[in-house]
Amino acid sequence: MIHCMDFRLGGTVKRYLEENNLLDDCDIVSVAGAAKNIAAPEHESEREFIMKQIETSKRLHGITDLILKNHTDCGAYGGRNAFSSRDEERKKHSDHLMKAAEIVKGKYPELRVRTLLADTEDSGKINILPL
Ligand SMILES: [Zn+2]
Repeated sequence: MIHCMDFRLGGTVKRYLEENNLLDDCDIVSVAGAAKNIAAPEHESEREFIMKQIETSKRLHGITDLILKNHTDCGAYGGRNAFSSRDEERKKHSDHLMKAAEIVKGKYPELRVRTLLADTEDSGKINILPL
């Protein structure tokens, strides 16, 4: 799983892994902005770093699936206030997740790639949405 380092997601990530029988059976890469590093990196080295993590996970643990997970109100995207609406924000994350999945599958066509968006409500409740 590649997800953002944001501490607010810790419990949500743990619950998701538990509910999907992946706890203690999933390599986890935590990096600010998650899919942004693949889809729209500021520097090519950011994409290379993530791709190297995927390569290492494949080599060491023979992974067959990859989960790319972004979240709303992400500081790496300028937070919620960088967007004019919740829909615009979700679309940006969706676009980046889809593009990142395409890039990963371009290099590793055998990997099953799932994309998720952890959508934070104003109340702080986080819903994980498959995209
Ligand atoms: Zn974030």
